Amino acid sequence: MTDPIQLDAAATTPLDARVLEAMLPWFTERAANASTRSGPGARARAALEEARERVARACGARASGVVFTSGATEANNLALLGAARARAKHGRRVLVGSSEHACVRECALALGREGFVVDWLALDTGGLCDLERAAELLREDTVLVAQMLVHNESGAVHPVRELARLVRSRAPRAHLHVDAVQALGKLELSLLSLGADSLALSAHKLHGPQGAGALVLSGERPLAPITFGGGQERGLRPGTENLAAIVGFGLAAELAERERPRFSAAAERWRADFLAGLAALGGWRVLEPQVRVPAILGLVAPEPASEIRRNHLEARGILTGAGSACQATKANLSPSLAALGLDEASIRRFLRLSLSRESVACDPGVVVEALRAVDTELARPARSAR
Ligand code: PLP
Repeated sequence: MTDPIQLDAAATTPLDARVLEAMLPWFTERAANASTRSGPGARARAALEEARERVARACGARASGVVFTSGATEANNLALLGAARARAKHGRRVLVGSSEHACVRECALALGREGFVVDWLALDTGGLCDLERAAELLREDTVLVAQMLVHNESGAVHPVRELARLVRSRAPRAHLHVDAVQALGKLELSLLSLGADSLALSAHKLHGPQGAGALVLSGERPLAPITFGGGQERGLRPGTENLAAIVGFGLAAELAERERPRFSAAAERWRADFLAGLAALGGWRVLEPQVRVPAILGLVAPEPASEIRRNHLEARGILTGAGSACQATKANLSPSLAALGLDEASIRRFLRLSLSRESVACDPGVVVEALRAVDTELARPARSAR
């Protein structure tokens, strides 16, 4: 049986063989605690610091700003809860993108329960965060703004640099946090030139291992820790570091940035060929944000619900996504898809195709043909029971 075509890279990506090779010794002969002073401990510390440099270079930040975490969920929690709590003396308003990932949205709701007032920043008609609305909502007492850079369901690239300028002028005390999970490896990323205070990253979205990520700080604004223990990671993420995974993350970030131009060009070609084929099928709607990366493609399929279509596609060896993997099992419909302007019926028929460096090599014509075959299968009237 041939390997399936994996078109759900926004959920996770296959581990790059070079990354796995770099990680292996840190599970075996080089395994050590980076906080101990022994020779092996010092060697582990050096590897950790090298990974920190690599992650910082890949996202245009300083190595001293990189706080390793278990992934982006933890990084987003640390950023939102840590920044809002540290700044509560200046005000208790927070502004959060309405189509953020659940781990950001749930933190905002938790802050609401702590007494912060949460304003939600809607999208404009082009599917990007609404800057005019942001200008209205930002106030002197806004202490936190969270807006992702690349949307995980539509591929929209939000105008974060412009948002940062507004934040600095209208809410000078606010910490601006950016979930950049889907941005690294897909566009040129620089924390310092974005003008944000922090970024969240995740290794497993970049052909790195699951269980490693980072909160990358520009260094100017302090955070309140949300977990307590030893002094690792500037005291912001106490606990023994996941050394092998962090080493893998460092290399994965470097490779993602190095291979980005080639990947982006290939993804752009793939998308154009795929959409040309899809246009001939009829009944499909494509989400086309005004500014977008090519590697994430949000689609609204014809009836029935996308879960049924995805099963049919999987039987034909094509793996697709239904939107945010973390929400796929929740009974409620994705609020971030609703924020993109989809009604309930469209959300049920939402299908996401997302490309990795590996799956971008697949033939888009094969995917279109599978969609066509499944459309035909699903359109056939159900055989009446005998
Ligand atoms: N933010 C975005 C935009 C994501 O797409 C994801 C994963 O789906 C996350 C955060 C959570 O990342 P992690 O799996 O590293 O916790």
